[in-house]
Amino acid sequence: MKLTKIEHIGIAVKDLSVAIPFYENTLGLKCYAIEEVAEQKVRTAFFLVGDTKIELLESTDPEGPIGKFIEKKGEGVQHIAFAVDGVANALAELSEKGVQLIDKAPRKGAEGLNIAFLHPKSTFGVLTELCEKPE
Ligand code: ZN
Repeated sequence: MKLTKIEHIGIAVKDLSVAIPFYENTLGLKCYAIEEVAEQKVRTAFFLVGDTKIELLESTDPEGPIGKFIEKKGEGVQHIAFAVDGVANALAELSEKGVQLIDKAPRKGAEGLNIAFLHPKSTFGVLTELCEKPE
């Protein structure tokens, strides 16, 4: 398994219409895509910083993962995503090493990436995502 870069950092926000202007007008970044991932009950907004993305996550349902995260912890960094060569192989390797997986197999995330999450219990409290561009 080889992690190649930090693909993105996921940040939970209450309201994209408030957060996007901050990232654009105050930090000077450009939002290049807004995408709803219905399965995850989120709307995402993407910014590119060098080779790494910032993914803002707004909940579309209080019962979804971001809705629950914000209720418990408030806004803030929600996950870190590493690019990896081969998510499925990485999951198999990590599972063998005793890492607790949230996703046993890759699934589709925002931007059409194949993604999978590792449980924060196994990663020192940091929800960790692995992702790769599909073939
Ligand atoms: Zn992510």
